Amino acid sequence: MKIKINQEDCIGCGSCVAICPDVFDINQENKAVVKNTNTDQGETDQECAKEAVEICPIQVIEIEE
Ligand code: SF4
Repeated sequence: MKIKINQEDCIGCGSCVAICPDVFDINQENKAVVKNTNTDQGETDQECAKEAVEICPIQVIEIEE
């Protein structure tokens, strides 16, 4: 599973980090970054990454299975 963020459009709201702190982070430019691009480390991270896709207000998170 691969997670991608369109950083240009990210508004830095922090929702993805709030719901999935092991996978997402906010960088110094107030843009979301993916901590682990391949979240093979556990189902919990995969589940919350999917929730982050849903919760992102401008839908800039993409998941490739
Ligand atoms: S939820 Fe979306 S807009 Fe908000 S910080 Fe995460 S990627 Fe950016």
